[in-house]
Amino acid sequence: MRFWRGILVGLVCVSLLIGCAKEIEEEFLLMDTFVLIRVRGGNTGLVEGAKRIMEGVDSLANPISGVIARMRGGRFVLPSRLRDVVGSALQCAEATNGAFDPTVLPLVEVWGWFSTPSVPDSGVLDSALALVDWKKIKLAGDTLIVPEGMGLDLGGIAKGFAVDEAVSFLMESGVEEGMVNAGGDIRVWGDRKWKIGVRNPRGTGIIAVVELENCAIATSGDYERFFMVDGKRYHHILDGKTGFPASSGLVSVSVIAPTSVLADAYATAVFVMGVNRGLAWLESQDSIGGIVCTEDGDVLYTQDLEGRVSILGGGEWK
Ligand code: ADP
Ligand code: MG
Repeated sequence: MRFWRGILVGLVCVSLLIGCAKEIEEEFLLMDTFVLIRVRGGNTGLVEGAKRIMEGVDSLANPISGVIARMRGGRFVLPSRLRDVVGSALQCAEATNGAFDPTVLPLVEVWGWFSTPSVPDSGVLDSALALVDWKKIKLAGDTLIVPEGMGLDLGGIAKGFAVDEAVSFLMESGVEEGMVNAGGDIRVWGDRKWKIGVRNPRGTGIIAVVELENCAIATSGDYERFFMVDGKRYHHILDGKTGFPASSGLVSVSVIAPTSVLADAYATAVFVMGVNRGLAWLESQDSIGGIVCTEDGDVLYTQDLEGRVSILGGGEWK
């Protein structure tokens, strides 16, 4: 009798625990954006842990206050998490043939993105451009070698890396299902399909809905950070080959990939590649898809997303 009572108490506890697998949500500001962590099957302590991991990534990779900001012109031994994010950035540079180039730092500086943005003089721009080339960065084990005058800006990948680190921690801690969203860099996991909206790059609504399961999406656009001079838009995604904001027919790119690091870096890269080259590159990659908004007003997407994406507004965002 006592045995069966024990079993019964056990079962009640288990069902209470299952019933307790309620959603926990936490929102906070980090990396100039809102971060939302939503989990089912975890607890607030784990969510706090994930938040601290993301703060840790920011303190390493932030281009102004992070450890990376001091690593210019010299030889440095990197803490392991920073080595991983730098390693990912260099791999993405290689995979995109330099469309994603984490050495754009001198360009980001002369365009004033860390202070007051403005169009630089051509001489200043040329000097900065001469200091951009990811192939000159050497990473061997933990040792990073940065040539004189050069530096790394991990702004195009750090949010994605932070999301991945948080998700890995939560998954390894046994959290069965959830989502981490750092200002549109979103990764979802677990036994659930999530419907994610893609924002209209100029308006307020959404132009597409895409269904995601155990993967990530990130969006890069010319509307996130920009300034206007004489009716011309200058935005923060720079073409490392010209030194100017990338301008090849796109206003936004959303990339869907297995991890947030890849989605984040590749969204920036495809924006630089432009409509034709960017879509062809996306089609050539396994397990990577994308939805792009062109300057002409079209919404286009890669073949692998067929059946998973609903385009609103008849395929035009304007
Ligand atoms: P956001 O951070 O606004 O979501 P992105 O992920 O597209 O947008 O990253 C843009 C940031 O990446 C810029 O602010 C700059 O720090 C950096 N960046 C700009 N151009 C490039 C480039 N061609 N390759 C890699 N990083 C870039
Ligand atoms: Mg990016």
